[in-house]
Amino acid sequence: MKAMQLPEHITITEVGPRDGLQNEDLFFETQRKLELIARLADAGLRRIEVASFVRPEAIPQMRDAADVVTRLPRRPGVTYVALVPNERGARDALAAGADELAVVVSASETHNRRNVNRTIEESLAGIEKVAELAADAGKPWAGYVSTAFGCPYEGAVAPAQVLRIAQRLRALGAYAVALGDTVGAADPRQVRALVRDIRERLPDVPLRIHFHDTRGTGLANVLAAMEEGVASFDGSVGGLGGCPYAPGAAGNVATEDLVYMAHRMGIRTGVDLGALIDVARWVEALVGRPLPGRVKGAGDAVLKDVS
Ligand code: ZN
Repeated sequence: MKAMQLPEHITITEVGPRDGLQNEDLFFETQRKLELIARLADAGLRRIEVASFVRPEAIPQMRDAADVVTRLPRRPGVTYVALVPNERGARDALAAGADELAVVVSASETHNRRNVNRTIEESLAGIEKVAELAADAGKPWAGYVSTAFGCPYEGAVAPAQVLRIAQRLRALGAYAVALGDTVGAADPRQVRALVRDIRERLPDVPLRIHFHDTRGTGLANVLAAMEEGVASFDGSVGGLGGCPYAPGAAGNVATEDLVYMAHRMGIRTGVDLGALIDVARWVEALVGRPLPGRVKGAGDAVLKDVS
């Protein structure tokens, strides 16, 4: 095994306002969402996924997506990302002023069908339309391959299938490809193998990973990916959110836990950990249940920040 080469700096995309909130029972009023987003930006997060432009009936928590994006608290250097499921969503997100789009296609045919009632090929055809709209608007877009490490319906997902879809997304114009561990199934060995595979075949594609901590392997998976050269990760403040397939399970890797681990290892994130912990505690009080992020509850003795 070659010597591990950890990145000096990682980029974090905060997905709490989208992936986090859409999996919470509580509806955050628009003003609250905007306050959350402003606090995250002020804590140093430079990429924030703020909304999903889905049908309001499908995900009521995202029903104010256009309003949120229109009224975003603008800060220098902060990119606001909108998740779009189709052409209509892309049109609305771009009209509202989103800086960047994210699209999702599942690596598992069954998951894709259950999730968006389309085949993978149909989803890719829709993404082609989104790509055209984004190009016309001069906005970048990233492609997520969800269930890349396992599917709640089909179980194991073939790495060749993940690679094939990643290649298609790149060919359609995705500036980055993200692997989604949608159900928190990944383990570190699997992460190393899949990342190595994709980086070998698509060496020029910036790779991002979206881990859920459903079964407690989140940070171990982040480390495994970093050891394979990945320097871009999604996180959710407080570990906000959950898993639609595992009621009561944790959400995304908690951003503050990710930042803490990185800083302790001498890896920069640009995030003010103390400020982020304050946001995590504030969110926790709002949702009225203990959030799974660990660092925020560990006391000030651990807050000596190295970055
Ligand atoms: Zn997710």
